[in-house]
Amino acid sequence: MQTFDVVVAGAGSSGSATALQLARAGLTVALVEARPAGEAGARWINGVPTWMFDAAHVAQPRSPEDCGPDGAFVMADPSGVHRVRIDPPAVRNIDMRRLVDRLQREASDAGATLLDHARIVGVEQEAGRMRRVCVDRAGQRSLLQASLFVDATGGQSVLRRESDVLAAACVPIAPADVCSATQGVYAIGDADGARAWQARNRVNDGEVLSVVGLAGGFSTRTVLLSFARNEVEVLTGGLGAGSGQRLLDDFLAAQPWVGTKRFGGGGWIPISRPYDRFVAPGLAVVGDAACQVFPAHGSGVGAGMLAGRLLADAVVGAADPGAETVLWRYQCAWQRGHGAVCAAYDVFRRATQDLSPSQTTAMMAAGLMAPAACDAALKQRLPSIGPREALRTLAAVGRNPRLGAPLVVAATRMHAAWMVYQRYPSRPEPAALRRWSTFAARI
Ligand SMILES: Cc1cc2nc3c(=O)[nH]c(=O)nc-3n(C[C@H](O)[C@H](O)[C@H](O)COP(=O)(O)OP(=O)(O)OC[C@H]3O[C@@H](n4cnc5c(N)ncnc54)[C@H](O)[C@@H]3O)c2cc1C
Repeated sequence: MQTFDVVVAGAGSSGSATALQLARAGLTVALVEARPAGEAGARWINGVPTWMFDAAHVAQPRSPEDCGPDGAFVMADPSGVHRVRIDPPAVRNIDMRRLVDRLQREASDAGATLLDHARIVGVEQEAGRMRRVCVDRAGQRSLLQASLFVDATGGQSVLRRESDVLAAACVPIAPADVCSATQGVYAIGDADGARAWQARNRVNDGEVLSVVGLAGGFSTRTVLLSFARNEVEVLTGGLGAGSGQRLLDDFLAAQPWVGTKRFGGGGWIPISRPYDRFVAPGLAVVGDAACQVFPAHGSGVGAGMLAGRLLADAVVGAADPGAETVLWRYQCAWQRGHGAVCAAYDVFRRATQDLSPSQTTAMMAAGLMAPAACDAALKQRLPSIGPREALRTLAAVGRNPRLGAPLVVAATRMHAAWMVYQRYPSRPEPAALRRWSTFAARI
């Protein structure tokens, strides 16, 4: 049996970033990954706001990890006519294979022990506290003991599901709160065809064209075509099993100029607000496993890295890093910070995800999508709209009360959700958490 201060399960972006922060803080860390290290986590391109790297204490990405854009982010309605242009966008497209490699390497350099091909197959708990995990490496089983276990295994959630405390608190995500997404990077097969696509769609080289609502309110087809990079990056996503792949197949069938695939992949993303509780004695959950995903566009990379930073802040210097009072500090900081923003945008997501393509078009045509609000959503921040833009948007609501009124209600409830999250209980008191959860669920 080996003993560490911390065992982190899962070496995707959340787990590797968490292992890095904890190892830098001086703790002995094992980072345990079921796949080969070079195949862990997301294997496609993800958009991540630049501020989130700084907040997570992770160095900003550079090319070739940084894959653009080299121009504006253009959000368009399903007809492509009505647009919001964000220039420059403060979100970078990240080659996740390279980011995860970098985080693993930096975690190892900081002293973490990376165990790959190592699947966690069991846990041992004593009086409700996780004490040991059983790891299977090529048929050989061994035990790892630690004061703190971190579940960063994404959808598998192997430790969270086994926790006596969290299994009851974290119910499975409802199908309506799951997004199916696919992302692929392709060579440009036919330059003339690609240029014709840019001209037809009125985008410059290196700009992003993100069509929203083409298959219902929560759906997108986001394309970055770059001759400078000689590639086209395509992200598709929507509600319902297989919807991301269907949107991608439709795009590829209609665009014969897209060449051979270089890399990519897909999967499902939880898009409901974070779980109300994601720590238990000896166990903290980070990333997708805690539902730490920005609900308006299903983005979990920055959120997971941020969780690693907050967890390290909470446990550093603690005599017992797995004590519930210590881990609660992480949970409270997360919920009152980015959790509050996620909860606010979950209100927006639920208010808009059933819009039809024509309703999305009508909303954008009416000027109800303020550019500052779109920019904030892209950055995973709360909107702060200047007086002129606020007046313009209110005038648009006045002209289109049937479309605008639900948005005003949603905006009010978004603010209320954010306020409720500022009151997240600061100490582990079950009754206080129950009261807070009941209140939060109402919003
Ligand atoms: C197509 C697509 C596009 C997306 N686009 C964006 C985007 O633009 N921006 C954004 O921020 N997010 C995006 N997301 C979401 C983002 O990819 C996830 O939120 C993020 O990868 C979650 O990271 P994670 O480390 O929490 O989990 P994962 O990346 O799922 O990592 C979990 C790791 O745990 C390992 N594991 C599982 N079980 C075990 C076990 N028993 N023992 C040991 N290890 C185990 C797995 O092998 C894996 O390596 C997208 C998702 C998809 C599918």
